Amino acid sequence: MADRSFLDWPFFEQRHRDWADRLDAWCAKNLPVDHSDVDAACRDLVARLGEAGFLKPTAVDTANPGPLDVRTLCLTRETLARHDGLADFAFAMQGLGTGAISLFGTPEQQQWLDRTRAGKALSAFALSEPRSGSDVANMDMAATRDGGDYVLSGEKTWISNGGIADLYTVFARTGEAPGARGISAFLVPADTPGLEVAERLDVIAPHPLARLAFNDVRVPASAMIGKPGDGFKIAMSVLDVFRSTVGSAALGFARRALDETLERAGSRELFGAPLFDLQMVQGHIAEMALDIDAAALLIYRAAWTKDMGAPRVTREAAMAKLFATDRAQEVIDKAVQIHGGDGVRRGHIVESLYREIRALRIYEGASDVQKVVIARQTMK
Ligand SMILES: Cc1cc2nc3c(=O)[nH]c(=O)nc-3n(C[C@H](O)[C@H](O)[C@H](O)COP(=O)(O)OP(=O)(O)OC[C@H]3O[C@@H](n4cnc5c(N)ncnc54)[C@H](O)[C@@H]3O)c2cc1C
Repeated sequence: MADRSFLDWPFFEQRHRDWADRLDAWCAKNLPVDHSDVDAACRDLVARLGEAGFLKPTAVDTANPGPLDVRTLCLTRETLARHDGLADFAFAMQGLGTGAISLFGTPEQQQWLDRTRAGKALSAFALSEPRSGSDVANMDMAATRDGGDYVLSGEKTWISNGGIADLYTVFARTGEAPGARGISAFLVPADTPGLEVAERLDVIAPHPLARLAFNDVRVPASAMIGKPGDGFKIAMSVLDVFRSTVGSAALGFARRALDETLERAGSRELFGAPLFDLQMVQGHIAEMALDIDAAALLIYRAAWTKDMGAPRVTREAAMAKLFATDRAQEVIDKAVQIHGGDGVRRGHIVESLYREIRALRIYEGASDVQKVVIARQTMK
């Protein structure tokens, strides 16, 4: 049974605790799912999470608009990740893929949100390119004005939900200024002619992922999200909300690793006593518990600060993401060690956690990039 004492922390309101309880009960009944066909699994997860109402926090409620609740987003990712990494992924993409529309979309664009919040449409966030991953401002993809339209041409890669999404938030160079100030954001429905899946990408913890080709994809000027040249700012605002949630997914993986370790160390007998009794094992367990609590404090500090109305939480979110993902890797590695051979056995839960955690230290800003962000904010 995962530690739930953190829910008593003053960062949370009663509605957060009730939400976490309801979601945990749902997860216990419905997860994990079969991962053999990740496309089918993600479609099904989105439909079922939507039906149960758990996708509501991913986007603005157009009938009752208000800010996104970052604490609920984090609690949801943490809980889902503890039960099934693919469920966390399916939830996260509904938020990341529509974040720009929630924050900057027109009422017409926001009509999509009713469908994504209900699990009836899947979304994706298309920022990275083969030549510009971390160096986002250096992107090549062009959006050229042609009468009342924009024509998008170029490539995006590492796009989660690529190939199964119904809508893409796409960032492209419109050229108002060099670098970051010449990028705009667009809402591109998946069935727009010229938008093609160039390649499906297989990774160590498989999920729907693709390189996309934009072959003269024509969208009306009304598809632009926000103003011309605001794309970089929009992307950063979206990441400002969702970056802490990557930390919370890592926290969910780490909590599961600790739970599995406690179970194992209590039941495995070595040298005539449970593994628990070995002081070196106790040392590992202490470090795991400490990393988990410290990560949780950083994550929910960032989420709470954002929810209290801070316009940006760049420093807090970078600290939360960096610490939680890097330390979760260590926590899971210790879990693998304490499980012995079973820890590296394909199909064992700690083996899958070991694979699941790795990409979180790369996407939405690699750990090294978070250090640069924290240093800049600290030196300001
Ligand atoms: C599983 C997965 C899912 C993803 N999903 C999406 C998605 O849905 N949408 C999307 O747009 N993108 C997505 N990405 C892309 C992801 O954001 C990029 O992989 C990431 O930004 C790194 O870019 P890159 O892979 O080109 O590595 P590079 O930019 O080549 O960086 C390589 C390494 O260089 C180092 N580095 C880079 N910059 C600095 C710096 N300033 N200081 C110090 N060191 C540095 C880091 O160690 C970094 O890991 C996903 C990636 C993965 C792996």
